[in-house]
Amino acid sequence: MANVSIHPAVDGGVKKGSASFAGGTLVCLCASKPVKVKVKGNVAHDHACGCTKCWKPEGAIFSVVAVAATGDVTVTENGDKLKVVDPSALIQRYACTGCGVHMHGPVERDHAFKGLTFVHPERFQESGWAEPGFAAFVSSVIESGVDPSRMDGIRARLKELGLEPYDCLNPPLMDYLATFAAKKSGALKA
Ligand SMILES: [Zn+2]
Ligand SMILES: [Zn+2]
Repeated sequence: MANVSIHPAVDGGVKKGSASFAGGTLVCLCASKPVKVKVKGNVAHDHACGCTKCWKPEGAIFSVVAVAATGDVTVTENGDKLKVVDPSALIQRYACTGCGVHMHGPVERDHAFKGLTFVHPERFQESGWAEPGFAAFVSSVIESGVDPSRMDGIRARLKELGLEPYDCLNPPLMDYLATFAAKKSGALKA
């Protein structure tokens, strides 16, 4: 199954993060004047994502994406190169206009994920960030042009890597979203 490529950060096996990782600096791919974003503390909910909106490195069919508290994420260098990819999207993905890497994606509107920022931990110049723990929006890779006949192999490879494949988010995050909606509607007491 190792011939099924998921993402360069996991294709050689998922590398366990370090419990002492205290954050670091995300750097884009520009050879000159790279955008730098400082993240305080470790990331959470790290996962492989098959959606069509997340930034993926060249040739990868999944992204690797995680969250940090928005207050812990600061653009420190060359922030003038950043532009929001789709201002109507829930996640305001700030991409580098030079190289295309999405550097930070805060959720600002009223939503269960408000206050969180999505980042791609593979862009940390430091190692030790929390490793991906599951795969989300797996069926969506078809929307990026992956032939449906490859899906059995892709799901088998994800399982082999310990990245349980889900076609939306994983159960804890889906429950979190549903709880937020139920409290909002009054079906559950806030
Ligand atoms: Zn760049
Ligand atoms: Zn995604």
